[in-house]
Amino acid sequence: MHETIHLLKKTDFPKINRRKVETLQVNLGYKCNQSCVHCHVDAGPNRTEMMSAEIIDTVINYLQAQDIQVLDVTGGAPELHPRFRDLVKAARKQSRHVIDRCNLTILEEPGHENLASFLAYHQVEIVASLPCYLEKNRQPCQTTYNIQNCLYRLELLLYTSIQITFVIHLTF
Ligand code: SF4
Repeated sequence: MHETIHLLKKTDFPKINRRKVETLQVNLGYKCNQSCVHCHVDAGPNRTEMMSAEIIDTVINYLQAQDIQVLDVTGGAPELHPRFRDLVKAARKQSRHVIDRCNLTILEEPGHENLASFLAYHQVEIVASLPCYLEKNRQPCQTTYNIQNCLYRLELLLYTSIQITFVIHLTF
């Protein structure tokens, strides 16, 4: 390995200090009910890479041991992980704020019909992505992943979350 330290230039840029960790983001795996061509992790229904049960337990224990207030869960579609609900429940039991990065279409996949009420009950914050509003930019995605269907699922969430504070961020 080459010595590089002597190549660094002196600068008056202020010293950078690390602050405490506020958010723990975990990627539960690459399995997804969609297979968008723009996906930066190339997620899809045929991907099998998923976080092991042991690592899920490690995440739960780590949250408990550290003063980290936010658990941010992503994927793939993180809801497809068999331990997704265990993880959410454990984090909420520890009074941690939980963010679910949800593609919305998962809410109506077979076996996930009660997902919206589960998220609402546990007061999970949803960060939802919508497909592009321009049809020409949506064509590479599966037909179920269109803006009308996503809006319908948003309606479902809002309906489910009556009387519960529901924070939904939309990214385009
Ligand atoms: S919904 Fe999200 S995670 Fe799933 S394939 Fe599309 S971009 Fe990737």
